[in-house]
Amino acid sequence: MDRSVTNPANILPVSSLLETEIGLIRDAVRRAARLCVTSAAASQFWYEKREREPVTAADFGAQAVLLRALIAVVPDDAVLAEECSADLVRAGADVVAGVTTAVAAAVEGAVTKEQVLGWIDHRGGGGNRVWAIDPIDGTKGLLRGDQYAIAVGLIEDGQPVFGALGCPRLELSGMHGVLVWGGPRLGTFVESLGGGKVRPLVVSGVADPGRARILGSVEVAHGDPELLQRVVERVGIGGGWVRIDSQAKYAAVAAGMADLYLRPRNRDDWRERVWDHAAGAAIVAGAGGRITDLDGLPLDFTAGDRLEHNRGVLVSNGPLHDRVLRALAEIG
Ligand code: AMP
Ligand code: MG
Repeated sequence: MDRSVTNPANILPVSSLLETEIGLIRDAVRRAARLCVTSAAASQFWYEKREREPVTAADFGAQAVLLRALIAVVPDDAVLAEECSADLVRAGADVVAGVTTAVAAAVEGAVTKEQVLGWIDHRGGGGNRVWAIDPIDGTKGLLRGDQYAIAVGLIEDGQPVFGALGCPRLELSGMHGVLVWGGPRLGTFVESLGGGKVRPLVVSGVADPGRARILGSVEVAHGDPELLQRVVERVGIGGGWVRIDSQAKYAAVAAGMADLYLRPRNRDDWRERVWDHAAGAAIVAGAGGRITDLDGLPLDFTAGDRLEHNRGVLVSNGPLHDRVLRALAEIG
């Protein structure tokens, strides 16, 4: 079967995903986003032990909704996903029951708790396609009332080829609550999470550092403020900071709301998680932007669930990229 299809503008082939598959994935992201917006599960949270990061009951519900769709659409593809059912079960029977109710509402059908736990743990098969899933990226943002994203990325032969980001609180192209999706050979598009017109997105053309707007995390502990300040001064970045949680930062670069996103690590042994970058990287590439690490190397998505071989992440509209890399090399 010829799996290549054309994009909505009929221009180029789209990895090996079919248009119908993309449609079903977009639908699943919308449903997962609705769960996060409407369910009480999104305000029920606790701290997981390993990294002391917050997790909500909605993280598990959204992952169940997303992986249920992958099982239906691409059952043999491998999956890297943030949550596992054992952590949900540990939270207690009442939490499992609440998540099951939320998932049933999101998929508009009857579901059992066994199904929900099974969907959360689906990891697919082997092969050259890997889905990177962060059901709620930016949980701290969600709990603070700020940005968060439902992130689904597809890595094919080590390259991010497709991404979908549901951003329920992001304001873009005159819409409040958006679904941004696309990839390098597909182009990148935005639509309201509620559905409606699909519009193409392109990165900004800003080449003058004095006008460049730079994105950063709200959580300063997720970066290196001192290094960021030195880069800003050396490059002469003058458009100001835009602080956003989660991969909504990638959507902001793709839409030209900002021109640079520099993510240094805050400690030498930190390695970025694949599901925090795969969807965003595909989307920015599809909108004409550029993604490397702080040494100018391509992100290596082949080393498991972390970017083991990369130092931080640099995302840009393109024209500003080499200036920032040069400054980073000079700073050392
Ligand atoms: P942000 O919203 O940009 O602050 O990024 C949120 C993501 O940061 C979460 O999904 C975590 O996976 C990730 N994260 C957690 N700890 C760190 C850390 N020490 N450095 C960088 N990222 C981290
Ligand atoms: Mg995350």
